Amino acid sequence: MNKKDRDYFKSVLLKFRQDLMGQIDQVKENDLNSTLRDAAGDHSAYSYHMADQGTDNMEREKNFFYVQRDNHTMQDIIEALERIEAGTFGMCVECGQKINRDRLEAMPYAIFCVQCKSDLEKITRNNHFMTGDAF
Ligand SMILES: [Zn+2]
Repeated sequence: MNKKDRDYFKSVLLKFRQDLMGQIDQVKENDLNSTLRDAAGDHSAYSYHMADQGTDNMEREKNFFYVQRDNHTMQDIIEALERIEAGTFGMCVECGQKINRDRLEAMPYAIFCVQCKSDLEKITRNNHFMTGDAF
């Protein structure tokens, strides 16, 4: 990968990181707001609001899930930026082959080539199947 490509992917990744940080802040803010609302709630009427409460909790769990997922992506992006600096960006961490350009365009923080990724997915599926079998 030449310097021009590296600079290109670096700017893409920095943009990804910025967008993601914005999203995470947004989720955190929503969570904080609903926590404050709960704290200010009228507890004598608590039972009447159980249904709402449940929805809120589910909503919060969903947000939590998104934050978790985003944190993973964030980690991937940071590592991809480190790989750009190290000069190993765009190479599969498994087999060392170049990752397909189209794949990098779609997912600049990809660390596996298409082949290794699909092999890994097969292994994951098989493990899942075996676990199901054992029980
Ligand atoms: Zn590979």
